[in-house]
Amino acid sequence: MPDNIRKIIQDRKVHYLTGLPNAGGYIDEIHGRIIIGTIKEYTAFLFNLKGFSNINQKYGIEAADSIVIRFSEKVKEFLDEDEVLGHLGGDNFVALVRKCRKEKFCRLLNGIEVTFTANGKEEKVRIPSTIGLWDIEENFDDPGEAISRPSIALQHAKHILHVPVVSVTEEMIKRVAVQKTVLEQYQSALQNQEFLVFYQPKVDSRNNTLVGAEGLVRWNHDGQMISPGIFIPPLEQNGEIYLLDFYVLKKTCEDIKKWMDNGFEPVTISVNFSRKDMVDPDLAANIDRIIINSGIDKKYIEVELTETVDEQEHGELAKFISDLRERGINTAIDDFGAGYSSLATLREFEVHTLKIDRSFINTPEFSWKDKIILTDIIHMASELGMEVITEGVERQDQIDFVNKVGCYIIQGYYYDRPLPLEEFEERLKNKVYNK
Ligand code: C2E
Ligand code: CA
Ligand code: CA
Repeated sequence: MPDNIRKIIQDRKVHYLTGLPNAGGYIDEIHGRIIIGTIKEYTAFLFNLKGFSNINQKYGIEAADSIVIRFSEKVKEFLDEDEVLGHLGGDNFVALVRKCRKEKFCRLLNGIEVTFTANGKEEKVRIPSTIGLWDIEENFDDPGEAISRPSIALQHAKHILHVPVVSVTEEMIKRVAVQKTVLEQYQSALQNQEFLVFYQPKVDSRNNTLVGAEGLVRWNHDGQMISPGIFIPPLEQNGEIYLLDFYVLKKTCEDIKKWMDNGFEPVTISVNFSRKDMVDPDLAANIDRIIINSGIDKKYIEVELTETVDEQEHGELAKFISDLRERGINTAIDDFGAGYSSLATLREFEVHTLKIDRSFINTPEFSWKDKIILTDIIHMASELGMEVITEGVERQDQIDFVNKVGCYIIQGYYYDRPLPLEEFEERLKNKVYNK
């Protein structure tokens, strides 16, 4: 190969700004170490500069470029001959550092001081990094993993754990792999009707009678029943939950219609709608249409929603609840008392039902404080004309406790787990529990 062409090819493997290996160049370095068998001696890093967009805004692109260059020079100075620094672009860097030096490297990245000129003036900034790392313990074939694994850790550092340094774990890797599969297979799973609706009874504990149920989705995937805790979060993150929520609503309406046609008196079934669904301004109208088209009475459906601290979402939620109300569809506030719920909720949202979160009663013993708080919440809700239900009830003493403070409708393993359709139909035929 002529030298000039070789040079062009080589050049494409470095970043134009810093001259460091880019993704391609870095992967070549990793590949080389996999082949000679030294890769397990290293820790793979992915890091970026905290507050870099502010720097960009404050000093301009040119100054920001020179900061990135100075920054990379300082990092490079730290590294030994056999260690590698790569520049993926923007303020994203990768590095392969000997395991015995990884703490030192993290300390360096904790804050690097950079001097530069902006508007003819010399300036100084101290830049900390957010770091994802992977201690390479095993051999692997795909050199791209030396970027993707620390990247999983970096995402956790930034968006979940909110700490400056995170080391990737097997659990994180597994979760990301499952999420990826979920997103890839979601559409075909919907088409193949792999999603099932289970029904968890709601029971009036005064006479042990079935009074309602909640529809909870399951994914029957290759004969394995996957719980919503696994697949709902990635679908919500990707804004794809909408189709599933409507699928569940439709299926629930169809089941209710079938029970009626077969001569059973149905009970009201609540279905969950994600807050992410509220980006659709016609959400309430679409829900209304599905219920009407199914031919059932609106009183048999209730829409469960969770609260939020986000101002914009809060407004959307208020509007959505009143839109549904105008159309004669009942709503419930789910998980009340967990996380962000507040007394303002009781005042602002005209909901039909308040579902007290499991965390309230998920305690081995009840204190006098628990009693006062719950009594007052239940009292307020009742005075405001809301129905109150406690969920996650597993034990007799929990029933006794919530009864004492004025709540009688119960959803929880004490009576039943979420049941497959056929088993729930048995409950509908005979609504009284032998307790
Ligand atoms: P959620 O709406 O709070 O549903 C109640 C969850 O608590 C259910 O878990 C239920 O099985 C569980 N549970 C009920 N009673 C007990 C009990 O006595 N003890 C314990 N330990 N747990 C109990 P599941 O079915 O795994 O659902 C988890 C979450 O997934 C739901 O929490 C809901 O947020 C979401 N979800 C389920 N189906 C849908 C759906 O169709 N659409 C949307 N957007 N979210 C759904
Ligand atoms: Ca719920
Ligand atoms: Ca709940």
